[in-house]
Amino acid sequence: MAHDPQGFMTRPRVELPKRPVPERVRDFQPIYLRPKADAVAEQASRCMDCGVAFCHAGCPLGNLIPEWNELVARGEPADWADASERLHATNNFPEFTGWICPAPCEAACVLAINDAPVTIKQVEMSIVERAFDDGNLPPQPVAPPTAHSVAVVGSGPAGLAAAQQLTRSGHAVTVFERDDRVGGLLRYGIPDFKMPKDIIDRRIAQMAAEGTSFRVNTPITSADVERLSADFDAVVLAVGALKPRELDNPGRELDGVHQAMQYLPWGNRVAAGDLDRPQIDASGKHVVIIGGGDTAADCLGTANRQGALSVTVLDHNPAPLKRVDLVNPVWPAAPPSRGVSPAHDEGVHEAWAHRVVEFVGDGHVRAVAVEQVEVVRIGGVRHFNAVPQSRSELPADLVLLAAGFVGTDSDELVAALGAREVPGRGTVAVDARWRTATENVYACGDATRGASLVVWAIAEGRACAAAVDADLAGSSELPTPVTPTSRPL
Ligand SMILES: Cc1cc2nc3c(=O)[nH]c(=O)nc-3n(C[C@H](O)[C@H](O)[C@H](O)COP(=O)(O)OP(=O)(O)OC[C@H]3O[C@@H](n4cnc5c(N)ncnc54)[C@H](O)[C@@H]3O)c2cc1C
Ligand code: SF4
Repeated sequence: MAHDPQGFMTRPRVELPKRPVPERVRDFQPIYLRPKADAVAEQASRCMDCGVAFCHAGCPLGNLIPEWNELVARGEPADWADASERLHATNNFPEFTGWICPAPCEAACVLAINDAPVTIKQVEMSIVERAFDDGNLPPQPVAPPTAHSVAVVGSGPAGLAAAQQLTRSGHAVTVFERDDRVGGLLRYGIPDFKMPKDIIDRRIAQMAAEGTSFRVNTPITSADVERLSADFDAVVLAVGALKPRELDNPGRELDGVHQAMQYLPWGNRVAAGDLDRPQIDASGKHVVIIGGGDTAADCLGTANRQGALSVTVLDHNPAPLKRVDLVNPVWPAAPPSRGVSPAHDEGVHEAWAHRVVEFVGDGHVRAVAVEQVEVVRIGGVRHFNAVPQSRSELPADLVLLAAGFVGTDSDELVAALGAREVPGRGTVAVDARWRTATENVYACGDATRGASLVVWAIAEGRACAAAVDADLAGSSELPTPVTPTSRPL
């Protein structure tokens, strides 16, 4: 298909096909189906190739979106291969973002001012999946070896991006991961129905062949600091922001009340074939999830797949306005995405504008006492005031806390390395070049930004690698897509 700059006027946006709900809730296979190449080409042909492409600025990686849209719209096999080359010019792992990025680029697409934006994420995912299918993503050549070595602590998307960039620059890179598999939250956290895990293994095989070393089951603690300093010229802390926000309501100690991140990884382990049943199981239970974001949606989808009797998602915020179309009222910023995941189409009771009063039970939780709240703004600050006489009880055999994260859980290691935390945020403090308070110790990803998105983690990993490379080698040609203080549009 020839690229048609007016394609958006004749072709509607078509979303990725999803498996029907009754089928998909019976397994952990991906919700989305892969579209056919000509359907993707048609979607790519809706790109207007704007003079000022706001999608670039919407994507923290600065992905060259109009370039690969045009190549895909042309549709020849060689064009798809070129599209993959352009895609990888700015993104080490477009398969991760292609599967699960909330696509702030689409919110910033100029079409979204008064029409449905281009399906950028769908095109991105299709390019990289086809490149793997066609064998177009072999290990890349690396620069001649330098005399320098780098330890990357943490194997989430930030650590992996930093590791791949530094390995390709010729440094000897070792990634240390405390879990038994590499991937961070991509592996243990994000459910398999949102992102299958073989796509991580496929990329790790490429990285290993390029020369990156991986050491799993290896938690780095304060006792390892001396060894790290002796064995490596630089250390990159990519330890994530995995300390969960706690609730201190009465009854928090009851059995059956768990943090979301104590629950979700069991689902991943069952899907990986490690176990027959999860240690924390929603099967046959009334489940209450507290929080209305991504983590809550992932708990919801997992609980329904395990056979929960009912799932209620409770959030103190009022119900978000339902969007009737994809015109973006706050263009080019991303509108809030709360309560709009495919998991919400699979069965949920929503309790917006409610908060927990106490967890009720005798040894084991049997209900969550809640009350309605209304939001009052005083001096620009939101207050959640209880509505009188609004207390009620939700039956609950399993309660999952998904109220967010409050910084890194590697405090001791951070302190022993001489790095500092940002007061009140629990994240690792870095200067404009990703350096902590200690020479040769750097940090990036959720560890510095706080709980964020995969696209930011990859962008930070790339930028941090450039800073490390410049300090080790005297200069660097690696790209710096973001700084520690960059913010979304
Ligand atoms: C349930 C859930 C769903 C999400 N869904 C999405 C989504 O759909 N889209 C999206 O864009 N983002 C999503 N996110 C956010 C996204 O996963 C994170 O922003 C991203 O993974 C951060 O990457 P990171 O590399 O900084 O940290 P992480 O992915 O958290 O990785 C940190 C790694 O460091 C390891 N580690 C920590 N301390 C040590 C130590 N001392 N020694 C060795 N290893 C250590 C940890 O085990 C972990 O593997 C979600 C987050 C959660 C919790
Ligand atoms: S990484 Fe996310 S923001 Fe960037 S182009 Fe892909 S979907 Fe859009």
